[in-house]
Amino acid sequence: MTTRVACIGECMMELSERPDGSLLRGYGGDTLNTALYLARLGVAVDYVTALGDDPWSEEMLAAWAAEGIGTSRVRRLPGRMPGLYIIRTDEHGERSFHYWRDSAAARDLFSGPGADETRAVLSGYDLVYASGISLSLYGEAGRAALAETCRAVRAKGGRVAFDTNYRPRGWPDKAKAQAAFRDAMAAADLIFASAEDLEWLYGREGEEEVLRHRGRCEIVLKGGGSPPSVRVLAGAEDVTVPASTVAAVVDTTAAGDSFAAAYMAARLAGRPPAGAASCGHRLAGTVIGHRGAVIPRAAMPDLALDSGNKP
Ligand code: ADP
Repeated sequence: MTTRVACIGECMMELSERPDGSLLRGYGGDTLNTALYLARLGVAVDYVTALGDDPWSEEMLAAWAAEGIGTSRVRRLPGRMPGLYIIRTDEHGERSFHYWRDSAAARDLFSGPGADETRAVLSGYDLVYASGISLSLYGEAGRAALAETCRAVRAKGGRVAFDTNYRPRGWPDKAKAQAAFRDAMAAADLIFASAEDLEWLYGREGEEEVLRHRGRCEIVLKGGGSPPSVRVLAGAEDVTVPASTVAAVVDTTAAGDSFAAAYMAARLAGRPPAGAASCGHRLAGTVIGHRGAVIPRAAMPDLALDSGNKP
């Protein structure tokens, strides 16, 4: 039976400002990146979000479908629009991000007409993946609805994966983010946690916040260093898996998103946790060698996952 994965979140229109002030259009979002790499690795994945009925929403849907991402669960909200951000690059090459996203359609995924149907449909997936950025979209009521949906997923035998991705500007205050992340980690079967995110959010107690779930769930703790290592805790296993050195790091956009995709794809293909971490490193290591979140298809590493071979 095919394992069905749902990635929940927001994809925004992306405008990159060029030196002459003109804007180059694209789109981007953390959980969308993960969905895209899952699809490229042969996993049956649906992106679950809300869009408007404007031409750019149509283009996004077509682009996702062309990547093999399932779009039948995308809610369309009449009169609404996707969020938007501009990437500005200064004369030193430093990039800054500027957002128009408060009224984005994706924020209403768990509210309004159609939300009940989204929740019911989500509860039937084998694996549901969301990030800290996803959580920041929905507000208290929406987060409660998502939490209830995750309980329903698990009650039906499905699993929930949570990636910490913490962006302070997405939250009205730190306390709300701390509470939401605590709840999300407690409800997850698989946690991808970045030591840096945890420290920003919880200070020195950051690692403890995630490690208290050891034994109960699988934890992938991404540390610093160059090249960085991840610590994988699964059952009695507690191993550290270093990444290989990448000759030229060009752009780290989507490093964590692609790592999560390859890790989950490998686990779904039967690889053990440490082997899955190696797959994560391989894909992420390739992604950071290219500009932008999405690498050319031809550059995708062959992780040999469809054979289900165990390393
Ligand atoms: P994010 O901040 O997007 O979550 P991380 O910094 O945690 O990303 O990196 C995710 C993964 O990307 C790492 O686990 C590793 O596989 C890869 N990666 C990131 N930086 C490097 C690097 N300098 N060298 C090799 N691999 C890297």
